[in-house]
Amino acid sequence: MLRLPKFELLEPRTIEEAARLLVEHEGARVVAGGTDLLVNMKHEIETPPVLVSLERVAEIQGVRPMADGRIQIGAMTRLSAIAADERLRRSHPALAQAASLVAGPQLRDMGTLGGNVLLDTRCQWINQSHFWRQSLGFCLKKDGTKCHVVEGGSKCVAAASNDTAPTLMSLDAQLRFVSTRGERIVPIDELWLADGIRNKSLPHDEILVAIELPPTPAGHRGAYGKLRERGSIDFPLWGVAVRLDLEGTKVARAELCCVALQARPLRLKKCSELLVGVDTASNEWRPAVEACAAMARKLCHPMPNIPGDHEWRREMVPVYARRTIEAAVSSSGPVHHV
Ligand SMILES: Cc1cc2nc3c(=O)[nH]c(=O)nc-3n(C[C@H](O)[C@H](O)[C@H](O)COP(=O)(O)OP(=O)(O)OC[C@H]3O[C@@H](n4cnc5c(N)ncnc54)[C@H](O)[C@@H]3O)c2cc1C
Ligand code: SF4
Repeated sequence: MLRLPKFELLEPRTIEEAARLLVEHEGARVVAGGTDLLVNMKHEIETPPVLVSLERVAEIQGVRPMADGRIQIGAMTRLSAIAADERLRRSHPALAQAASLVAGPQLRDMGTLGGNVLLDTRCQWINQSHFWRQSLGFCLKKDGTKCHVVEGGSKCVAAASNDTAPTLMSLDAQLRFVSTRGERIVPIDELWLADGIRNKSLPHDEILVAIELPPTPAGHRGAYGKLRERGSIDFPLWGVAVRLDLEGTKVARAELCCVALQARPLRLKKCSELLVGVDTASNEWRPAVEACAAMARKLCHPMPNIPGDHEWRREMVPVYARRTIEAAVSSSGPVHHV
């Protein structure tokens, strides 16, 4: 049985107190639902001596409209609440769908949106017990000197595997952080770094307090497609968010963003460009969707960093791209294997 290493748990009631505790306790880390951090601690991938829990900070829970029409989602809002939120399901369907496909029901009841955004990268050579990793001489991400995915590689290529990240990118989300230095707002695209060891530009003492979404236009359509082996519970083997803003039946804006390839989620600009201006009710639509799916295959190169045969994953990229675009147009819900 894997045991948690010893740590001190602090439970502030305000964000200011939480921010202060992070500065006062060296090596302290934020814990939200703990569904990822505690597993990593059991595996001794990280062993913070102090955890600052956000569980009792009521001000960062829940979904609320802002005066300027944006929607603010508190970082501690549970994924199950986001999946069930009727307003979000209408206004930002891809996000609600992605939240509904994270892990399984119990984990969605504990796991938060903030924790999902800030999820550590994953790799089949690191998300293992300390004993297992030791037998291989560890790896670059923790305690070792080589990478088992890229022979001779000098950079960790563990994969961003957070299902909500590409949907939030497609929706132009902004992230609100608080620390003892004050507040800062970061457009989500600027959060990511191309480094599997640490794929976020985030000082350890900053707390994500909210995720803010601009309103979507009347013709907004969105869908999330998730390739996975088991329908009941699994990290993505490829995840794609599709945004289509229609004017009548014509695509005024398109976004395709994806996850589970490399350290950062990707915005597939060359794919979305192929859909903009196309009338979804015309004969041009089907060839445009096919061209977009083929472009996705060209741009996406799954590696043997996460489970699932990477060549099979690549062949599934155009399939899931096509199905998710179709699901967005028809508002038929998420695309996944059941
Ligand atoms: C069996 C299993 C299956 C899973 N499947 C999926 C899956 O399919 N898709 C998926 O995306 N995830 C999956 N997960 C991972 C996890 O459950 C979710 O990503 C969840 O949303 C993480 O949220 P949390 O609140 O539990 O984060 P935590 O574990 O509490 O934290 C995760 C990280 O974020 C940091 N953090 C959390 N909140 C804040 C904050 N407000 N400010 C600053 N730092 C913060 C923590 O310090 C930690 O580094 C799975 C986990 C398990 C155990
Ligand atoms: S990509 Fe390489 S360095 Fe990174 S976790 Fe996997 S094996 Fe380790």
